[in-house]
Amino acid sequence: MSGFSVFFNFLKDKIEFNEQYQIFSGLIRRHEPALSRIELYTKWLDAYLPCAGIQVNPGSPFGELRGVYQLVEQLDGYYVRQDELKHLLHQCRVLTATQQEQLVEAIVGFLRLIEQTELNPERLVEEQRLEDWWTLFPEGQAWRVLEWLRSLGLEVPYSRDGFRAWSRVVHGRTPEPSEHPREWVQHCRKEGAEAWGDAIRADRAAAMFAGVWNRAEALGPCMDIPDCENCFLQDRCCWMQNDQSEPLGAADLFRKERWKQLEDIDLMVNILDLNAEEQEALKKFGESETLKSLGRNKLIELQKNVDASSDLPAKLSLLKEVCQRYAEERLQPGAQFRSSRDIFQHFRERLREVSQEQFLVVLLDNKHRVLEEVNITQGLLNKSLVHPREVFARAVEARAAALVCVHNHPSGDPEPSPEDRRITERLVESGKLIGIQVLDHVVIGRDDYFSFADRGLL
Ligand code: SF4
Repeated sequence: MSGFSVFFNFLKDKIEFNEQYQIFSGLIRRHEPALSRIELYTKWLDAYLPCAGIQVNPGSPFGELRGVYQLVEQLDGYYVRQDELKHLLHQCRVLTATQQEQLVEAIVGFLRLIEQTELNPERLVEEQRLEDWWTLFPEGQAWRVLEWLRSLGLEVPYSRDGFRAWSRVVHGRTPEPSEHPREWVQHCRKEGAEAWGDAIRADRAAAMFAGVWNRAEALGPCMDIPDCENCFLQDRCCWMQNDQSEPLGAADLFRKERWKQLEDIDLMVNILDLNAEEQEALKKFGESETLKSLGRNKLIELQKNVDASSDLPAKLSLLKEVCQRYAEERLQPGAQFRSSRDIFQHFRERLREVSQEQFLVVLLDNKHRVLEEVNITQGLLNKSLVHPREVFARAVEARAAALVCVHNHPSGDPEPSPEDRRITERLVESGKLIGIQVLDHVVIGRDDYFSFADRGLL
C-alpha cells in the first residue's frame, strides 16, 4: 500500500462524519451549478480582478469596469478576435496597459474553456480543465482557484489544511505556502476516492484531521501546531519518523515537540538565536555553569569570549529573568498563603540573589487572601529605613486586616540579625495598636528561610 493510500485509509478508520458535519459541508446535498455563461463569467471576474490587483468598488462592482463585465455578451465565444477585445478593454480607463494585456489573455482562455466544457459541472473540473483554470488566474492563486470553484458548488478538493497534514505524513514536511495543490487534487481523486469512495470526502476528512472543523467528532491533531503526542498516525508519520538526526530550527523543534529531548544549553541556543561564535561561548559556559548561577562576574567573563558587539550576555540575563518570573508565579489578588513555606517559595527566586536587602509586605484581607504586595525599602535595613509608618500607611489605605513582612539576606544565611528582631518587635507592637495583625516576618536566604511565626517569636 502506498504512503498516500495509508494516509487516506487510516483516516477512514478513525474519522467519522457526524450528521451536523455532513449538513454543514454540503456532503449530502450535492450542488448542481445552474450557471449561465454570463453568470459564470461575472463570478469569475469577481474572483479574478482582486487577485490581479484590480480594485473593484464594492458599492458598485460594475462602475468603471462595466465594459469588462459586459464583454462576454458582445463577444462570439467560438471565435474571439483579440484585436476586438483589446479595443474594447482599451476603453476601460481604470486598467493599466499591462492589466489590459493580461485580461485579454485571461478572457480568451475563459471563453475557450467554457465552450469546451459546455458548462457541464463535471467537465468544468476535469483534470485538464483544472490546469486551464489555474492559468486563468495570476500566479500563486492556485488554492484560491480551488476555493472559488468549490464556492460555485463544483466538486473539487480544496482543503489547504488537509494538504498540509497529508504532506507531513507522506513527505515528512510542511508544505511551503506557495506550493501548488495539483498533487493534492490528484491523490484525493485517486487514493482518496478509493478509500472514501469520493475525492471530496477524502479532502474533508483530511481537513478534519487537520483540525479545521473542530465541532466534528474527531478533533484533528495535525493543526498548524500539531498535537503529535495524541496523534493516531504518529507511528506512520514521516514528519515524526524521518528526521530524528536532522538539526531542526526552533519552530520545528516546537512543532515536533523535540525540545523535550534537548539539553538546557541546546535549548538556550535555539531560543536566543545565536551565531556560531556565541553558540560556542555559551556551550563553554554551560560546561561549568547554569543559568541559575549566572551573576555579574560570569556575564563579564562571557562577554570576553564573544565579539564586543554581541549581546549574548544581555540575552542570557533576560532569559534568566523570564525563568525567575515564571518560577515565582506572581501573586494574584485573592490568592492565599497557608504557611511560611508558601511565602518562601513565592519570593525565593526574586530575592535570593539580590545584592541588597529588600523589604516588602504582603497585605491580606480578613480571610488572609492577598490584597497586594508593597515594596517598602531597599538597602541596609535599620530602624530608620523600615519605619512602621511606611509599613502600615498603605495597609491602612488598602483596609488590610493583616500583613506578612518579607525581606532577604544577600549573604544567603537567613538567620535574623539583632536589628531584624528589633524591627519585628516594633512592627508587631504597632500592628496591635492600629488593629492590623503582623502574621509573620519571613527572612529569605539562598536556599532556606527563617520564619518569626514558626519560631514562636511573634
Ligand atoms: S504525528 Fe504530528 S505531524 Fe504527523 S500527522 Fe500526526 S499530528 Fe500531524
